[in-house]
Amino acid sequence: MANKRDYYEVLGVGKDASGDEVKKAFRKLARQYHPDVNKDPEAETQFKEINEAYEVLSDEQKRAQYDRFGHNAQGGGFGGGGQGFEGWTDINDIFNEFFGGFGGRQGGAQQSRRSPRRGADLKYELKLDFVEAIFGAEKDIEVSRSENCPRCTATGCEPGTSPTRCKTCNGTGEVRRVQQSILGSFVNVTTCATCGGTGEVIASPCRQCGGKKQIRSVKTLRVTIPQGVDNGMHVRLNGEGEPGVNGGPPGNLYVEVHVTPHPFFRRKEQDIIVELGVNVAQAALGDEIEVPTIDGKEKLTIPPGTQSGSIFRVKGKGVPHLRRNSRGDQVVIVTVSIPKVLSPDQRKLFFELAKTMGKEVTTQQGEKGFFDRLRDAFGV
Ligand SMILES: [Zn+2]
Ligand SMILES: [Zn+2]
Repeated sequence: MANKRDYYEVLGVGKDASGDEVKKAFRKLARQYHPDVNKDPEAETQFKEINEAYEVLSDEQKRAQYDRFGHNAQGGGFGGGGQGFEGWTDINDIFNEFFGGFGGRQGGAQQSRRSPRRGADLKYELKLDFVEAIFGAEKDIEVSRSENCPRCTATGCEPGTSPTRCKTCNGTGEVRRVQQSILGSFVNVTTCATCGGTGEVIASPCRQCGGKKQIRSVKTLRVTIPQGVDNGMHVRLNGEGEPGVNGGPPGNLYVEVHVTPHPFFRRKEQDIIVELGVNVAQAALGDEIEVPTIDGKEKLTIPPGTQSGSIFRVKGKGVPHLRRNSRGDQVVIVTVSIPKVLSPDQRKLFFELAKTMGKEVTTQQGEKGFFDRLRDAFGV
């Protein structure tokens, strides 16, 4: 009971607030903090606090006592005993009773037991290699899902028998009870526990499904993967999800594509990127080189003076657009490789080359030592 907030403060009303004002303030706050709407983990605690404050302030006698003695009234204080709000364990119940349900909750549970419901959607994760994702593929997949029971045609009854009317609820699927609340009496409607709200009882359950109306099965399905799909995309198979209930439509199956990376091709949206090494001579003189593409080898001309990191495009050799009859490009990143080992002839040629470039290489190894570089830089 320590640090209990003042009830007027909880509801945000003045000490002289009328019964109507208290009620109005309570409704506003209850809507705001009802855990169905407010996902804050504190909301439930706040909701209870609001209800407790309302329970006291809406009752003339309790309110008068609270005004005189505060939280210490009635010895143990308000709201701590078996009566009052603490007795209401399900906050959804209290909400429904006051407001007639939230978001169509009232009666919804009972109706939905018998009304057609759409089956659940399913997800299947499919691995594709790089090329399959680009050009599309046909794949057979095995999906584990429920099927309507063929023996009883999803009635749950052994063939030749039919369900009987539930005696507990007389076929209505609901049990009604009059209860007293702080706002007066109300009718508490609950789902019939005997029939689970269907209003019917299956006397002789189907031997194949045990009365569950559905059985588990594994089905092989053919999926057509369109060209140009990318990692994480979904292919929807309409009606291949879980079957519907009470004659409702089935859900969908979503095939999620996971593309295995390629050893040297990379994909960026509609373009396919490849890195290609050329030697110094090719880079300096220009050359016609062969480029691997997803369709096979292509010729690419690199101009004289090509720098390492230059980018070239081979038009139309990329990824097909999903819904267009066109393709992205093959992007070639050219890197110039410097030879690590030279033959004696090559060494000679590089020395000659160095001479023509105005920076004669002087050391025997073809590399300048630390002191040579120091001399070059500072003239020491
Ligand atoms: Zn029943
Ligand atoms: Zn069956």
